[in-house]
Amino acid sequence: MNAQAQPTLLNSKVESFINRPRTVLIDGRWVAAKSGKTFDVFDPSTGHPIAKVAACEKADVDIAVAAARKAFDDGPWPRMTPSERGRALWKIGDLILENLEELAQLESLDNGKPIGVARAADVPLAADLFHYMAGWATKIEGNTIPLSVPYAPGAEFLAFTRKEPIGVVAQIIPWNFPLLMAAWKLGPALTTGCTVVLKVAEETPLSGLRLAELCQEAGLPNGVLNLLTGFGETCGAPLAAHPRVDKVAFTGSTEVGKLIVKAAANDLKKVTLELGGKSPNIILDDADTELAIAGASNAIFFNHGQCCCAGSRLFVQEKKFEDVVEGVTKFAKGIRLGPGLDAQTEMGPLVSQTQLERVSGYLRSGADEGAKALCGGKRRGDTGYFVEPTVLVDTKPDMKVYREEIFGPVVTAIPFKDVDDDLINRANDTVYGLAAGIYSKDLARAHRIANRLRAGTVWINCYNIFDAALPFGGYKQSGWGREMGHDALSNYLETKAVCAGI
Ligand code: ADP
Repeated sequence: MNAQAQPTLLNSKVESFINRPRTVLIDGRWVAAKSGKTFDVFDPSTGHPIAKVAACEKADVDIAVAAARKAFDDGPWPRMTPSERGRALWKIGDLILENLEELAQLESLDNGKPIGVARAADVPLAADLFHYMAGWATKIEGNTIPLSVPYAPGAEFLAFTRKEPIGVVAQIIPWNFPLLMAAWKLGPALTTGCTVVLKVAEETPLSGLRLAELCQEAGLPNGVLNLLTGFGETCGAPLAAHPRVDKVAFTGSTEVGKLIVKAAANDLKKVTLELGGKSPNIILDDADTELAIAGASNAIFFNHGQCCCAGSRLFVQEKKFEDVVEGVTKFAKGIRLGPGLDAQTEMGPLVSQTQLERVSGYLRSGADEGAKALCGGKRRGDTGYFVEPTVLVDTKPDMKVYREEIFGPVVTAIPFKDVDDDLINRANDTVYGLAAGIYSKDLARAHRIANRLRAGTVWINCYNIFDAALPFGGYKQSGWGREMGHDALSNYLETKAVCAGI
């Protein structure tokens, strides 16, 4: 444990960024909330306030949506050439890379994640998403369609489809990968020619604010991106329900996802959702043991378990159960906890007091219901929101720790006897369907299992592999639609059929 270690000094740009109260971006201008209200942002490794941001509410949402509406209806963004839009997106990707260190430090400070992870994963992946989506701007094409029209014999038509931007998009994102989630949302929306009001999470608004500055620097016209900071109920809810918004894209809890659907139902806005998970990670008896242990550990402990796709149900075939569980427990015990900005840190704090209480509640409930913690099982220290990496055994399918998404570094290890229908049924026995993992040297066997898992992503002999080109999203209550890849474009496009008699 290294929770008391001195963090590396902040980059001077980061220091000056957090020392000024932050405003929000509406119609190309940085403004305070209409009410003048602000709220504090906290360092999760100490619980101390580090910055102040604007507390936007319905009045700010109204102005931001009006700006996005004007930028969409009057242009120029949706009517610029695809090549011009693509170049602006590419520039955003370049600017993210040019400011990698500053963004990584902001992310680590605000979210608590290890600085090395922010440098190697969050920031480069965000840049890559913009670069990937930049290429799509010039490749969004409709079809020409030969018609038969039985009631118009001999008539000729020229029929084709146009792919048009859906309009003004409200985007609401969570705190676990703040910059990356902003990139996942903005990339496809902007490349298709939509305009956006993005609300970042109240726990982690800083990197999104800096990203919005970079988007301006890249030349996005006024009103194309409007970025708000504020709370879910007072800022997110009026945004999701706003009558002048055409589509809502949300990433967060399944509980709030259902509220978003209700808010959008009134005027039948299009909705995409990326929600929770309780993903099975299945280790077969012929798996490479070292690879499986490293993979199972990464599946649950990466980002402190604060991943919607975390491999939180670890199914291990009986012959390997002891070795794998022992290996994952050893790995968990060796993880260095500390502030994200300390270069030695391997796992930071949870993001907030609320998450600390939530995860601690699950740990208590597991213990009360008879689950055994082979390591961890409690908070670490009394400063910041640190929770020990935890491996649970002796769990039962009706326990809360087995069924519900914990969103912390807590894995439930479950033995199974045979690779049969029962295993598949147990793996699929969840309301979620976001991701799954399989470890086996027999690839044919692994693929047969993969085909039967009801999950949007299946990793085989790897876990947590993300790429701008690879679609990500959920079956069942894990969501609607896909992020990334060319699948994401369809979330932001309408199809117009044009039919001309010739
Ligand atoms: P978590 O429980 O992990 O904090 P949430 O789903 O509550 O995740 O939050 C994800 C995002 O949804 C945040 O930006 C939050 O402000 C926003 N949010 C929360 N409640 C609502 C709501 N009722 N309507 C719209 N957005 C909301």
